[in-house]
Amino acid sequence: MTDTGAPAERTLVLLKPDAVARGTMGRVLTRFEDALLKVVGSKMVWMDADLTRKHYFDLEERFGAGVYNATATFMQSGPVLALVLEGIDAVKTVRKLVGSTYPNEAAPGTIRGDYAHQNKAYATANGIAVANLVHASGNIDEAKQEVALWFTDEELFEYSTVAEKFVL
Ligand code: ADP
Repeated sequence: MTDTGAPAERTLVLLKPDAVARGTMGRVLTRFEDALLKVVGSKMVWMDADLTRKHYFDLEERFGAGVYNATATFMQSGPVLALVLEGIDAVKTVRKLVGSTYPNEAAPGTIRGDYAHQNKAYATANGIAVANLVHASGNIDEAKQEVALWFTDEELFEYSTVAEKFVL
């Protein structure tokens, strides 16, 4: 149980093709491990059109076909590292560490704020996706849905970490 009475949560994180190609996987993963989040699932995936549509099922409705197509092209441009992270308020905690969607608005100290500076206007003008290194589930319902989309039960692991003594 947690201080809010809620059990530890699981959330989906994707290290996007820019994070993988730039060689930042280790540094980004370290941010999560340093915050004592526990990796309970991990695999490299090259997304196809079907998985992209399922993962970003509402992106076209929210931002239009241009943003959807640019994002789909970007997400399928190379492999992603898919992770399931577990911890207290993991969904909110991970979003806090990741920072705002647009790197120019993301606070220093966040992953997007520290590793990129691109903005929405530049992406729009050039018909490209905002390359912001990480996807993280937006809320608890989304996290449940995304973990189930990306991982089978057999791909998720239960084990003890030393840090749990200080967390749970
Ligand atoms: P988040 O990834 O922070 O949850 P959204 O769900 O709103 O943000 O958007 C999904 C992804 O689509 C973003 O992370 C980004 O890569 C891309 N994206 C969002 N808005 C734009 C935009 N206006 N132009 C280009 N790409 C965008």
